[in-house]
Amino acid sequence: MENIANNLQALQNRILTCEQAYGRHPGSVKILAVSKTRTVEEILRASESGQMHFGENYLQEAEQKMAQLPNPALIWHYIGPIQSNKTRDIAADFSWVHSIDRIKIAQRLNDARPANLPPLNICIQLNISSESTKSGINPDSLVDFVNKLSEMPRLKLRGLMAMPKPEFDFNRQRQPFRQMRCYFDQLNDTGHDLDTLSMGTTNDMEAAIAEGATIVRIGTAIFGPRSVKR
Ligand SMILES: *Cc1c(COP(=O)(O)O)cnc(C)c1O
Repeated sequence: MENIANNLQALQNRILTCEQAYGRHPGSVKILAVSKTRTVEEILRASESGQMHFGENYLQEAEQKMAQLPNPALIWHYIGPIQSNKTRDIAADFSWVHSIDRIKIAQRLNDARPANLPPLNICIQLNISSESTKSGINPDSLVDFVNKLSEMPRLKLRGLMAMPKPEFDFNRQRQPFRQMRCYFDQLNDTGHDLDTLSMGTTNDMEAAIAEGATIVRIGTAIFGPRSVKR
């Protein structure tokens, strides 16, 4: 197994260096540890180093891990595609959903969020590199989408999420993240109160932080390369 404690320490240093380089407040960028395909043991190791936020893409896999990790301090984020027959369980098991891109799904999550839990924190996923295969809404429909969400009291809109297509050049990586920041600022300038830009993975987190990411979603840099590609 990778040395997860060391990896997390190195990642925190990388983030701090980046916050300083781009004039971000130290501590303003949080790590979401993406634990898809990882074992309960690996999640446990990360949590022993103080990592409490975990992101999962597949409901069944996540539920199996949650059952074996009954630590109530762990905070689970759903970051994968959402099928409508999974909304009831997602609404009950997770504190956050980053991958909202359909109103019908949002409505089902709102309706299913258990009354004893606080509103579900959500991010709207934007299709920022206009790839037809990728999930996320077209940014042109963002304002309309946000207005519809405002009628769902059991969802709390925290911000925006994106997974741009992979680029290797730093300046090219920054472009979609800069657009995200513009949409985020526009919403806040028109009376909304968003605090979350969920963007940046192992390969492009520096560019995302430079453009204002508040949550970076990191798998590989914490747990090592995934053997299963998904
Ligand atoms: C897998 C995944 C990540 C993490 O990617 P790494 O390259 O392993 O850091 C982040 N976000 C989403 C939506 C993912 O599916």
